[in-house]
Amino acid sequence: MFGRDGPRRSDNSKYYDILGVSKNATEDEIKKAYRKAAMKNHPDKGGDPEKFKELGQAYEVLSDSEKKELYDQYGEDALKEGMGGGGGGSFHNPFDIFESFFGGSSFGGGGSSRGRRQKHGEDVVHSLKVSLEDVYNGATKKLSLSRNVLCPKCKGKGSKSGATSRCFGCQGTGMKVTRRQIGLGMIQQMQHVCPDCRGSGEVISERDKCLQCKGNKVTHEKKVLEVHVEEGMQQGQKIVFEGQADEAPDALTGDIVLVLAVKEHPKFRRERDDLFIDQTLSLSEALCGFQFTITHLDGRQLLIKSNPGEVIKPGQSKAINDEGMPLHNKTFMRGRLYIQFNVEFPDSGFISPDQCLLLEKVLPQKGSKRISDAELDDCEETTLHDVNFKEEMKRKHQHHYREAYDEDEDEGPSGHRVQCAQQ
Ligand SMILES: [Zn+2]
Ligand SMILES: [Zn+2]
Repeated sequence: MFGRDGPRRSDNSKYYDILGVSKNATEDEIKKAYRKAAMKNHPDKGGDPEKFKELGQAYEVLSDSEKKELYDQYGEDALKEGMGGGGGGSFHNPFDIFESFFGGSSFGGGGSSRGRRQKHGEDVVHSLKVSLEDVYNGATKKLSLSRNVLCPKCKGKGSKSGATSRCFGCQGTGMKVTRRQIGLGMIQQMQHVCPDCRGSGEVISERDKCLQCKGNKVTHEKKVLEVHVEEGMQQGQKIVFEGQADEAPDALTGDIVLVLAVKEHPKFRRERDDLFIDQTLSLSEALCGFQFTITHLDGRQLLIKSNPGEVIKPGQSKAINDEGMPLHNKTFMRGRLYIQFNVEFPDSGFISPDQCLLLEKVLPQKGSKRISDAELDDCEETTLHDVNFKEEMKRKHQHHYREAYDEDEDEGPSGHRVQCAQQ
């Protein structure tokens, strides 16, 4: 493979592999693959700089018909020699490739400045915990945070004089290339972030460094944001402070985005614009009428009472209009307040035969006809056991499920028997 004569036929599939395309990928496919991978692996987004560099190199070669042809025919080494011979040419800075691909357009990133373009700074997202009362009544919250701002002393220049000079180590590219002979006529090229300027491409002389920011161009600032939580705002709704995120030289400042997280309320449940509460009535309240108060989210006392002669059944709901949540931006409109009733039957308690007679007189005797003594003689006595019906059914289901997987299943459980009984 590494013959001494003629161009060496080294690996010529690596660049395709890096971009994740086939060797006969079209120009368009190569573009798309680069776009996707480079966005994902951009160091400003926390990607691996090495991977990003590889992507840039692969794209640089495969997007250039001349280089691509050379690479397809003779592989990477031929290409390096070709590029190396052509007046010290080498791979371009991967950030330049990226930027030229995206036409220098905005791309979120909080890294150091590379070139003179205006990057769009990263948005900062915080979650803002609020109570249901806060979104019912509206509230003002104070949020203190610390952020980077351009140094006020040097106005973000980093130097006293306002001057910077091109980094000598990298000639202003921010990247350094080292070459290493690894074999006969073979040179390995390594590209890495310039340690002198940490990739910024510029340096400030020690004497000229701004005293306040020590040449960093930015300083920390404590900031208190006053946040207006508006009536009717929803869970997950965003409150945006434009251009209030970290400042960085040569970058547009991103936004601070607060995402509302409404805490659970012990009494009220919210569904969009409606509120729900559960109310437990005693059996006598359910039968004979009830009256109770609710303290609303704004402190008002609401009197809730039954209609005369009305019986409330377990699970029944009632609603009060306009006592739900205010609608955001339309606070004159309100949802409903739903009350879901639960009826508590007495756990124990002795009801005497006399009282029973009284109850029987009042309550309708539905469906229970009297059994004659003759009929009683023909009946068998039974015993009633307490069961937790839900639990029992769940257990039976699991059992049934297991059996269904058994190849030689004998008679199924309950379900099957019911069928037989019906025949
Ligand atoms: Zn440098
Ligand atoms: Zn400064």
